[in-house]
Amino acid sequence: MIRTLLTSLATLCALAPPASAQLNETAQLLTELIRVNTGNPPGNEAQLDAFLKTKFAPLGFEIDIIPTPDPAKAHFIARLKGDGSRKPILLAAHADVVGVEREKWSVDPWAGVVRDGYIMGRGAIDFKGGLAVFAQAVMMLAKNKVPLSRDVIFLSEADEEGGQYNTTWLAKDHFDKIDCEFALNEGGWIIKNPDGTTRYVSISTADKSGVSLLVTALGTSTHSSMPRPDNAIFTLAKAMAKIADYDTQPKLIDSTKEFFTTLEKTSKPPMSTYFHDLVSGTDPAKVRIADREISKDPLLHAIMRNTIAPVFLNAGFRGNVIPGSAEATLNFRTIPGTNVDELISEIKAVVNDPRVEVTNAGARGMPAGTNAEAYEAYIRAASHMKPSTKDTDLFRALVKQSNVVFPGVPVTTYLFQAGTDAAAWRSRDIPVYGIYPYPISADDLTRMHGNDERVSIKSLQEGTDLIYKTLLQVAGK
Ligand SMILES: [Zn+2]
Repeated sequence: MIRTLLTSLATLCALAPPASAQLNETAQLLTELIRVNTGNPPGNEAQLDAFLKTKFAPLGFEIDIIPTPDPAKAHFIARLKGDGSRKPILLAAHADVVGVEREKWSVDPWAGVVRDGYIMGRGAIDFKGGLAVFAQAVMMLAKNKVPLSRDVIFLSEADEEGGQYNTTWLAKDHFDKIDCEFALNEGGWIIKNPDGTTRYVSISTADKSGVSLLVTALGTSTHSSMPRPDNAIFTLAKAMAKIADYDTQPKLIDSTKEFFTTLEKTSKPPMSTYFHDLVSGTDPAKVRIADREISKDPLLHAIMRNTIAPVFLNAGFRGNVIPGSAEATLNFRTIPGTNVDELISEIKAVVNDPRVEVTNAGARGMPAGTNAEAYEAYIRAASHMKPSTKDTDLFRALVKQSNVVFPGVPVTTYLFQAGTDAAAWRSRDIPVYGIYPYPISADDLTRMHGNDERVSIKSLQEGTDLIYKTLLQVAGK
């Protein structure tokens, strides 16, 4: 009887999800954040702000919820006061997440499911996991009554994944509320080896920018019964074939050189040799081989160059009409310092056909909901952006505390392969350091913006330790 009882208890325990008491506080908070559906569009970030207020307000934070013209969208700011002897530090996390292909998930992406030591759900990695870590670390300062030499500002942002009311919009009229000496944001990765140990900690000091070009082929518009040699669709197809066979040259900035050198130190031959040749090789043939081998990893391919991705094709409107034009939109993700006019000239030279025009696509090539004004603001901000310096107390604290939480694991700067909302600060010369604050495996990384997104409960604890200790060092008295 007892044995049967024990067996059925064991079965029950195996089936039941762990009680919330078994989750660390960050993981518990993350399950609650995931349950507020902020899939963008439409985002509905204001709902999440109301939830965050219930967490932060009782701890003595000054709360500011900045409404946007869209009543469902707002920015949440919680400020923990210091003695004002130093400028504030800011921790920024976007509240919105991308949508889901529900049928491809094995769990409800909006339920905050706990499975096999992981929190599952949309945003677990990008970036509700980070929002939970940043919020938890900041709230711990208040709970532990840590005396502060500077204000600590926590910001939960709207419209990072698309839309016009992002931090660039927020910064236009409310910069005084988010002004700081330096900031933390999403960005670099803490990558795990297949055996579960931590391979490296990367901190992004710059983000790639995005720009889209229109490739437009022109021809004679006429009846489809009398085709002519100047068919716009054929011309576009030939131009696209040339672009498909082309790749841009590697362009390493300081942070990517440091990153690839870290990969050299943490990998075995022949990969370590390729990383070495890419950074320091003088023989162009060897550099080409290194590029080819390293580029088999799409992430590494992306961070060393301006990438080209066709995203739209548009031609024709009737079955019996040959259209007079055909166009393709190419999305480029560019290395800091890339000039768009030079990029246009580069692609024109590749196409090398007078019947094909290459122009800036403007807002059309940006995420849905980006209007012309938001696009212009983005381009202006991006063109003023320089990588953040490593010479700050925050960067030094991140490195030092990484060494405490992940002993013996190298820390490197990194160029983030996509865009983030850091431009609002970097364009004002305020250093921003990006980190997804939880060790993650390469497999789990592919789930970001994909299916069954998840983050490990243990990693959330390690990330919270790292960020809390960093805050103690940089903002504690
Ligand atoms: Zn993100």
